[in-house]
Amino acid sequence: MACDDPVELVPGVWQIRQQLSEEVPLYLHLVVGPEGAALVDGGLPFSLPWIERLMAAAGVGEDDLRFLLNTHAHHDHIGAFAELRARTGARVVADPAAVRWIEDLEVNLREFALHRPDIIADSPQLRAELAPTFGRPCHVDVTITDGGAVRLGGPVVLEAVRLPGHVEGELGWLERSSRTLLLGDIVTGTSWSFFHGHLLPLQLRRSLRRLRALTLDEGVRLVCLAHYASRTAAEFLDLLIEVERYLDQVTDTVEGALDATPRSLTEVWRRTCAQMGRIEEFRGLAMVQAHLREAVAAGRARCVGPDLYVALRSDGRPAASPL
Ligand SMILES: [Zn+2]
Repeated sequence: MACDDPVELVPGVWQIRQQLSEEVPLYLHLVVGPEGAALVDGGLPFSLPWIERLMAAAGVGEDDLRFLLNTHAHHDHIGAFAELRARTGARVVADPAAVRWIEDLEVNLREFALHRPDIIADSPQLRAELAPTFGRPCHVDVTITDGGAVRLGGPVVLEAVRLPGHVEGELGWLERSSRTLLLGDIVTGTSWSFFHGHLLPLQLRRSLRRLRALTLDEGVRLVCLAHYASRTAAEFLDLLIEVERYLDQVTDTVEGALDATPRSLTEVWRRTCAQMGRIEEFRGLAMVQAHLREAVAAGRARCVGPDLYVALRSDGRPAASPL
């Protein structure tokens, strides 16, 4: 269901869509229990009016908002947290690995977008483009690990599910009474003009497998995602297959760019963008670097100099150069 007006998907689970660009929607979710409400993710700084509309539609006043639950610390998931926390007194709950980026936005910006200034320059233009999407830093009140729970009264309980892959510190939230799974970006966008990106490909695969098992074992009925319309369990299982295929395609494209001739990170990144029809951008660069790192760790490639890689055959010898 895609609607720019707030909608109650199942009793107590509210959603609003904010279109961030022509191709990227952002869905914000509010879970309401007898003793208060929890907002899942804080959007961008300018998502605040959407969050206010969501709260008004759900009948949640500022005193009723008790928790600001984070999935992960990317800028489009934390933007309104500082303002909402100051206004409502709601407590920010996040994965321990997300805290540094939520509390220090300069570190966040540098490690997210300016991680390789030798390849993508830390330019005033890039900073000017990104600066408005970073709000104010926000204190994290509570860190939570896998299996930790946030209670909203009665049977309404949100249980944290640790899902590394897109980034290291990502949580999903399982609302047990309605069997609703609320997710951030662990199910990454696959068809945008830029790579949505992931930093831990192997762990991403594990997390996707865990989500499949969780959906089946817990009898999940509804899955709410940050950048996809909400869907039934069956539709979600299909989406998981689609994301796994996309991950295979990225792996094959990155590693397919390697042979016996040393190839630089920049060369492999540019080839991957060209072959998969994506623009060259910092998220894709971090993703390609992560895939190369994992290819080396798995013995499929060798690092032969700073940012230089060759493919390895299964016997550990360099692969032949293409004719
Ligand atoms: Zn993200």
